[in-house]
Amino acid sequence: MAEMTQTFLREQLVHRRGRLQSVIATRRAGNGLVELLSEVDSALERMENGTYGICEVCHETVEAERLIVDPLMRYCLDHLTREQQRALEQDLQLAAEMQRELLPRQGLKHHGWEIAYHYQPLGPVSGDYCDVITRNSDGDGLLFVLGDASGKGVAASMLMAHLHAIFRTLVATGLPVHELVRQAGRVFCETTMSPYFATLVCGRATASGEVEICNAGHCPPLLVRGPEVTSLEATGLPLGMFCDGGYSARRLTLAPGDTLFLYTDGVSECRSESHEEYGEERLARAVAEGRSLPLEALVRTTMNHLADFRGGAPVLDDLAVMAVRRGV
Ligand SMILES: [Zn+2]
Repeated sequence: MAEMTQTFLREQLVHRRGRLQSVIATRRAGNGLVELLSEVDSALERMENGTYGICEVCHETVEAERLIVDPLMRYCLDHLTREQQRALEQDLQLAAEMQRELLPRQGLKHHGWEIAYHYQPLGPVSGDYCDVITRNSDGDGLLFVLGDASGKGVAASMLMAHLHAIFRTLVATGLPVHELVRQAGRVFCETTMSPYFATLVCGRATASGEVEICNAGHCPPLLVRGPEVTSLEATGLPLGMFCDGGYSARRLTLAPGDTLFLYTDGVSECRSESHEEYGEERLARAVAEGRSLPLEALVRTTMNHLADFRGGAPVLDDLAVMAVRRGV
């Protein structure tokens, strides 16, 4: 461990020992504090004899960032005690609940538009970003976003929450979609560590059926017009790659009954038992077959189609799809 980190942690521990001793001296403290004091003493002793920050099971170094959060940590992530594992699981459950709260309402209808989605984290939390923002104050209609933060698990879910906050804040500016994505990209880039990025599709749908759509390096959304399904290629790079990437938006007019179908790569790159990839074409066929169904049923049958294809093969990524339909 870096010497600076160890010096910092020693100061922290000495400070905490002082606080503990003064509380224990009041004699109103429970036994727990006395035990805690002996743990602090033991950590300081380990610092003296050079065994501090080493896992007691495998003798590998304990992750420095975990020691900074809890300087009494004696096990690496792989060798937590059952109690510590339970605490970690509870944290994850709480994070999952918070993430669910960030999702849009199901069955949303606004200004003649209908939205249905399916959101399926691989673990407790997901790196997929799914949002619908409606503002009643103007005739803007609604803004929909489906994206995918790089990586998986907790780190990706934090990026997802970050994107959620960025878009929720920027949407109030009323900027055109491509400008909104550019600004979001700049904030994301300035506030996110460099190897991370996110792809997304952002669209704004108005009451008259116009859709302005911008695709930042994401899987091409499918446009369903009658029996015809076409895909809308990316018009820009993922967010976070360059702080000032330019974006353009495509304008479409959707007739009543037309549907836009957005998905993350967890869907298109899903593999079957024989390692075959699901792929965009298969997805487009499934969506075309289900196009006359009510929107929620379309989402459900598409996900069932994917599950049938996957068979017994494991799910390896977060999954999300969103269908946006102009009502008839
Ligand atoms: Zn270990």
